[in-house]
Amino acid sequence: MPISTVTPVEAEQLNPYKIVQSQLEQAGKRLGVSQDVLNILKKPKRVLYVSFPVKMDDGSIQVFEGYRSQHSDAVGPTKGGIRFHPDVTMDEVKALSMWMSFKCGVVNVPYGGGKGGVVCDPRKYSKGEIQRISRGFMEAIADIVGPEKDIPAPDVYTNSQIMGWMMDTYSRMKGQVSPGVITGKPLSIGGSKGRNEATARGCAFAIEQAMKTLGKPMEGATVAVQGFGNAGRIIAGLLMEQGCKIVAIGDSTGSIYCKEGLNLKQVEQLKDDDSATILDDSNGTPLENPEDLLELDVDILVPAALENVITSQNADRIQANIVAEAANGPTTPKADEILFEKGVLLLPDILANAGGVVVSYFEWVQNLMNYYWSEEEVNKKLREIIVHSYQEVYALADEHQTDLRTAAYMISIQRITEAMEARGWI
Ligand code: GLU
Repeated sequence: MPISTVTPVEAEQLNPYKIVQSQLEQAGKRLGVSQDVLNILKKPKRVLYVSFPVKMDDGSIQVFEGYRSQHSDAVGPTKGGIRFHPDVTMDEVKALSMWMSFKCGVVNVPYGGGKGGVVCDPRKYSKGEIQRISRGFMEAIADIVGPEKDIPAPDVYTNSQIMGWMMDTYSRMKGQVSPGVITGKPLSIGGSKGRNEATARGCAFAIEQAMKTLGKPMEGATVAVQGFGNAGRIIAGLLMEQGCKIVAIGDSTGSIYCKEGLNLKQVEQLKDDDSATILDDSNGTPLENPEDLLELDVDILVPAALENVITSQNADRIQANIVAEAANGPTTPKADEILFEKGVLLLPDILANAGGVVVSYFEWVQNLMNYYWSEEEVNKKLREIIVHSYQEVYALADEHQTDLRTAAYMISIQRITEAMEARGWI
């Protein structure tokens, strides 16, 4: 066999666990922390694998698999969502739990990072089946979660109803009402006002600050949103309220574009209609290649779906001035470099979507106090935290002439390191 003389092009790293480790390493080196610190933070403290049987509507038994990863509890109990998605893997959940640690660090809420996932496609199941999957997973992880241990929340394809079922299962198992075990619950059982919109609201606050930095008005700014779930949908609405023009929206069925601005109410109606998709919208033209949404000439691009959508393959074609990562991990490290060189202001996930965990923290505090706040109070406190965090991150990035992701990691690693020192771990 002839030996090839062609040097293979190094494939881009798309494993989120490897990606978060490289982000940590890079920011940690710049910050000057010891290799010991990096070694501790590079791996989750505990990962639980579970499998559990669920009785389906037709009487058959299906066995589901899931994970719960707890990255670091140096600062406080671990915290982070549970996703239901067919592509969930252990490495993904580990990575997401690490991103949660750094997210809590940037906004300075007293938690470490956790994350859970069940390998399933909830779009295929009835409400009753989803309830049994939710209860089955909570039962399987109940030993390692708790208001002072690890506190789950919603994530991709999970919602407040699912949190309600999980809270109920945990409470029954413990024989006491335990609202503080999970956040993102329905209001009637200890949910917080403003939690449902919090991820989106936090992201909109961060975008506002970034627009101020660039000296651009929100009025008339054009926006493309990829993902039309809890985050993307509400962000589109909040930005529209501020005068932005939503020119493109994408979801798992495809993307639509309208130069003059889409009619958001109409797109929302189609999204909620089981017999239609957003592609049926009469104002929007479907994009032949849905990913082209990312490359549109807009002021603000909001990836609000899943990981690895901006890679070395498309980063140089991104035209937006601001990329606001409402999703976790949408941009690869190679793409980060390209966007930074191009002068794109990228609001990293651990800052841009931190509004969710900030209001989860408020929810947990309210549960522990048994005293509930008004929505104005929640939103005001959220705004203060996001604006302050943005300013801190931006100032550090400016000082180090680096991107906002690296600066956000530096702030976070510093805080977690101080907690580890105070505990005598290092
Ligand atoms: N799943 C959300 C996130 O990725 C929220 C986590 C939480 O509220 O604990 O930030």
